[in-house]
Amino acid sequence: MAKKQFKAESKRLLEMMIHSIYTNREIFLRELISNASDATDKRYYNALQKGESGLVRDELSIDITPDRAARTLTLSDHGCGMTKEELEQNLGTIAKSGSLAFKQENQLNDQDVDIIGQFGVGFYSAFMVAKQVTVISKADGSDEAFMWQSNGSDGYTVTPSEREDCGTTIILALKDNTDEENFDEFLQQYTLQNLVKKYSDYIRYPIRMPMERSRMVEGSDKDADGKDKTPEYESYTQVETLNSMVPIWKKQKKDVTEAEYTQFYKDKFGDWEAPLRTITSSVEGAATYHALLFFPAQAPYNYYSRDFEKGLQLYSSGVLIMEKCADLLPDYFSFVRGLVDSQDLSLNISREMLQHDRQLKVIAASLEKKIKSELAAMLKNDRENYEKLWKAFGVQMKFGIYASYGAAKELLQDLLLYQSSADQKLTSLSEYVSRMKESQKYIYYACGESAAKLDVMPQNQRLKEQGYEILYLTDDVDEFAIKMMREYEGKEFRSTSDDDLGLDNDQEKQDIQKQTEENKELLEYVKQSLGEKVTDVVLTSRLTNCAVCLTSKGGLSLEMEKVLRAMPNAAETAPKAQKVLELNASHPVFEKLRQLWPEKKDTVAAYAGILYEQALLIEGLPVEDPVAYTAAVCSLMTQN
Ligand code: ADP
Repeated sequence: MAKKQFKAESKRLLEMMIHSIYTNREIFLRELISNASDATDKRYYNALQKGESGLVRDELSIDITPDRAARTLTLSDHGCGMTKEELEQNLGTIAKSGSLAFKQENQLNDQDVDIIGQFGVGFYSAFMVAKQVTVISKADGSDEAFMWQSNGSDGYTVTPSEREDCGTTIILALKDNTDEENFDEFLQQYTLQNLVKKYSDYIRYPIRMPMERSRMVEGSDKDADGKDKTPEYESYTQVETLNSMVPIWKKQKKDVTEAEYTQFYKDKFGDWEAPLRTITSSVEGAATYHALLFFPAQAPYNYYSRDFEKGLQLYSSGVLIMEKCADLLPDYFSFVRGLVDSQDLSLNISREMLQHDRQLKVIAASLEKKIKSELAAMLKNDRENYEKLWKAFGVQMKFGIYASYGAAKELLQDLLLYQSSADQKLTSLSEYVSRMKESQKYIYYACGESAAKLDVMPQNQRLKEQGYEILYLTDDVDEFAIKMMREYEGKEFRSTSDDDLGLDNDQEKQDIQKQTEENKELLEYVKQSLGEKVTDVVLTSRLTNCAVCLTSKGGLSLEMEKVLRAMPNAAETAPKAQKVLELNASHPVFEKLRQLWPEKKDTVAAYAGILYEQALLIEGLPVEDPVAYTAAVCSLMTQN
């Protein structure tokens, strides 16, 4: 029978496994047991969904059978099994086991074998110890079994086979021993027993293995006269359960090592990086539950897309009843991974009923508080990791403030971080406020593409020179969220491009007013020559070295316009900011305009056009008429 080929990316990983000199190859057992446990969970879950209740967890064992003579190690489960198609799909390609694994694979290089141990490599790890892998599986509800078999990277076959009940049997034909490597150790009962204890103790199904024990032959310690004599021993075999089956989340924190939590997290949630923080929580009262939560170190590749599904695993007394219970996490904490186990929830509760479940609401509210307080504690005591988390998930929290119309402000405002003009590091709002000058009325912010660009924006210079700190907002959602918050600790937020920065002393204001009066016609003419491009043209004292800037009137800022225009199909329909062209009253360019006015009106109009386009450039907006702009600048350059 012709062999089918593995998908290219699987083949590479497979080759790595086969040739790996990886010292931690023992993890293959953990990976196979974890797959068996997942498959059993699935079967149990499906039975619950169908209202079948005949399954007994204790009978759904995972059995390990070493055969020293044949040099095989067999693992068998009573899980959901696989159909022929599933065998091909799941074991013929690793892309199936999550794009994450695929992504990770691309970051691997063959020398870098240590990476293998950092995340679940799943089924393929079997090839670290086996020269041939045989999988016999019968899917739940099917009456046909199939056998998948492979000797390694040259491909695999799938043929009809036999199996009594549903589930999967995996037979590993161990690699030959060499001078350096002894694969027989994986046939030793003590090695296997220790590996199960080490990696799979918490698995909630019995992991069983025939254990050779020895016992005294009954009566052999006495002779015929009843006197003591050296007893005889006989060996016998009995099947024993190797794992304690206490789920890790039900253990006391002090009894679990950080490494065990991390391993559990990586296995369960397919991340290859350790979590930034692990949270355990056992609550009794209005709702009784155990929760084990993790803050990941990085966003999943699809986190900021529609494909991402938030949620925590939900267990009812140790039985998985939902893979991703979305109602347990608010959107702004959707990055949290983990599980909740509660005895208060009924086993066969449906998704629809869960949504209205009062217990679940109580649990969700209590988890939200817990997550918030852990984040706050992290910000205070573990700044480096908090900033890492913030870089991965901060946008989501800011979005939470906006999307809740400010309702989540109280909860989230002290978790926010922004870059600022102070030292371009991240600062919290409370840190900013603690540095505010006594006379400072507002919390200043500026929006733009990057902190570096904002730092040189003309309209920010004067504030900076006067020693005021400015928050640099660089995410699309920032200004929308800030507008929702309006103030922090009684201090209003104010954009640096706002008309009123609460700064100008009276003298300065009067000067500007006076100059505006004197140049009324000139300003009016500049505005007229720009037509509908601007709502107003004014003189300003906010600029130091630059001749012009653009600001906006009303609630919609230039940055917000940019964001709205970038939405799909919104380029034409998005509302426009009311632009105000501000001219620096003490700049030589304004002086030049005054000299030209009113004799050389045309030149004034041409200069106004150039100044407007320059202001757009400074704002990071596209020049509206590049050809005319270039022509105008060239004509200027060729004047003597
Ligand atoms: P992962 O477990 O990370 O998804 P694996 O390579 O370990 O990746 O397994 C691929 C897929 O094969 C699993 O997602 C599962 O669907 C299926 N599978 C593996 N082992 C079993 C098993 N014992 N019973 C049923 N399905 C299994």
